[in-house]
Amino acid sequence: MAEAAPFERVAIIGLGLIGSSIARAARAGGVAGSIVAYDRDEAVAARVAALGIADVVAASAAEAVEGADLVIVCTPVGACGAVAAEIAPKLKVGAVLSDVGSVKGAVVRDMGRHVPAHAAFIPAHPIAGTEDSGPDAGFAELFQGRWAILTPLSPADEADVERLRRFWEGMGANVDTMTVEHHDLVFAIVSHVPHLIAYNIVGTAADLEDVTQSEVIKYSASGFRDFTRIAASDPTMWRDIFLNNRDAVLEILGRFTEDLQALQRAIRWGEGDALFNLFSRTRAIRRSIVEQGQDTAAPDFGRRATPPASAGER
Ligand code: NAP
Repeated sequence: MAEAAPFERVAIIGLGLIGSSIARAARAGGVAGSIVAYDRDEAVAARVAALGIADVVAASAAEAVEGADLVIVCTPVGACGAVAAEIAPKLKVGAVLSDVGSVKGAVVRDMGRHVPAHAAFIPAHPIAGTEDSGPDAGFAELFQGRWAILTPLSPADEADVERLRRFWEGMGANVDTMTVEHHDLVFAIVSHVPHLIAYNIVGTAADLEDVTQSEVIKYSASGFRDFTRIAASDPTMWRDIFLNNRDAVLEILGRFTEDLQALQRAIRWGEGDALFNLFSRTRAIRRSIVEQGQDTAAPDFGRRATPPASAGER
């Protein structure tokens, strides 16, 4: 007999790239009995209904969560607190409330205070995405072989954490748990600061008066292209990430600036060995990422080979 779905009724608030991928993946993986969707953008809600990726498209967030066993807030980080305030009174007894925000400390601060004692709040963050946004950008395979981090709060009900773990595993993810603080520091270095560097270098290139826009596009294959892909990520989402992971980002940026100055010095003084040693260490890191299956040697891993015609380019 097939194992029962970990959650019978699953409500998803915010049907962008991540929310719509969860709707598709949860259905494909059989980890939800039914899916209720709500998005504040009427065009998005209509598109979700047309795509048929949810069983019900609700008229409000409060309506969506009524009777739901699992509620996942998939809005930008800055909206999570207001959504939690709106849905909290309607959460059913025993419901699990989760999110997908790329920052955990601020989400716990903003959502946590609204969660009633009869519901369990288990923050989460899937380490999967593309630079696209919106319900057409989502796809069922997004989480396959990628990590989903759970940051259970203390005291956490182990049975609820286990159910949420099964939910993410059923969508193809590998699940890890860590503390909220550790999460925010780790993702400041592996995700947030790299995005900031990409936004900065693309901005610097755009400001250079003697490099024309056409040259930036023409010669972009020489390394710059990968930065432009990252720097095309959703402005709202990334604004919210930097405003909400300020301390960890500033800590990592301080270290980054020191290391950059050391590189600057090595270049100035012709210290080739220092440059060679660093570049050898970083090459080894890249190879271990490929070996661990988190990327392939081919460029642009993580994007579908053939995105649907309606998918936007991020
Ligand atoms: P997205 O494609 O922009 O979708 C977000 C959706 O939420 C939009 O339709 C937005 O509508 C809607 N929304 C905003 N405020 C709302 C509210 N109060 N009530 C209901 N719906 C609301 O964003 P995404 O890429 O899926 O990201 C969503 C979350 O996932 C973010 O917290 C992000 O940090 C996290 N995340 C993203 C990635 C990634 O690579 N994209 C990876 C991991 C985690 P409007 O357009 O009207 O604002």
